[in-house]
Amino acid sequence: MRATKLLETGDIRTVEVPVPQPGPGEILIRVEAAGICGTDRHLYKGEFPSVPGKTLGHEFSGIVVDGGDTEFAEGTRVTCDPNTWCGTCDQCQRGRVNLCKRNVATGIHRDGGFAEYCAFPASKAVALPEDLDPLHGAFCEPLACTIHGMDLGAARAGERVLVIGGGVIGLIAVQLAHLAGSEVMLLTRSPEKQALGLETGADHAVGTEEAFRVLWPDGADLVVECAGVGETVAVAPKLARTGGRVVVLGVLPQGDHVPFEPFDLLFREIQLHFSFLNPFTHGRAARMIAEGAISVAPLISRTISLDQAAGAIAAPPPRGEVRAIVVPDQI
Ligand code: NAP
Repeated sequence: MRATKLLETGDIRTVEVPVPQPGPGEILIRVEAAGICGTDRHLYKGEFPSVPGKTLGHEFSGIVVDGGDTEFAEGTRVTCDPNTWCGTCDQCQRGRVNLCKRNVATGIHRDGGFAEYCAFPASKAVALPEDLDPLHGAFCEPLACTIHGMDLGAARAGERVLVIGGGVIGLIAVQLAHLAGSEVMLLTRSPEKQALGLETGADHAVGTEEAFRVLWPDGADLVVECAGVGETVAVAPKLARTGGRVVVLGVLPQGDHVPFEPFDLLFREIQLHFSFLNPFTHGRAARMIAEGAISVAPLISRTISLDQAAGAIAAPPPRGEVRAIVVPDQI
């Protein structure tokens, strides 16, 4: 079978490898769709710790072709929660599984979904409906991470929620805030992504902080940072109203620093949260995707074959792209 492997930093290739055999507690999945995430590009560039020789791809879904020793029936469509927590470290014991010291991430520490087949722990697979569009299952993982962020931010009906950054995470946050009954504004620079925000649930879309302040001069009850750049993380608390809340989902390179004014945060009692991964949210995400509660189709910019995957990961995303989906069946 073909698989797209990160052989070492800066060297990614689609190569011929044996079909994996499911081990104890594992199923074999024929991958139908796997999303290319910013993390895959960080892994390629060496900006995120990687394990040489692993198949990338941590946002994927497919069909069970071998249930192994598990109860999964062949033919079941599943989405894969890539994070396998150890369950025994002190963080897991406290229920803080996303902070597990021994998390094994499929697509980083073990072979992932940019492949025709993937052997995967059954305990981390969640069934999806037979009639679901196969591409939609690839959105469960980014949705699960965004659900965790929105849980921390606790958007309420009638509140004003500002989402910064119109990538997949931001456009999903827009939809979750809209579903919560909040008034939603998307702040992202490109007109194409502003238009997508308005199409998927934002009440307003702007390209600058100044334009935000014209519409909401008192600030937002909740600011959800989904751009992952220093300037937007720094500005997020300033755009929250007095007594407001901020959730940072965006990932900045290790070692980066961002200026905050503690006096301002204290005297306005801004709550500042950081949201990491998807603790106990993958099942909720799968349910929302299965029910069509999240509008996924507008987030798919293009589908590509496995042979095109290496090049797509090595290159920056084309302007306006939200998600490229690798479809191993595609020639
Ligand atoms: P993405 O596709 O890169 O989207 C981020 C968007 O932010 C870009 O499309 C860009 O759109 C916008 N942006 C960049 N600079 C901006 C600025 N100065 N002002 C306003 N908007 C700006 O990334 P993604 O896949 O949606 O992920 C978003 C972030 O979440 C990334 O940092 C990712 O690593 C992180 N993430 C975190 C978790 C977690 O568990 N916390 C999980 C998954 C992903 P414009 O060109 O329109 O500005």
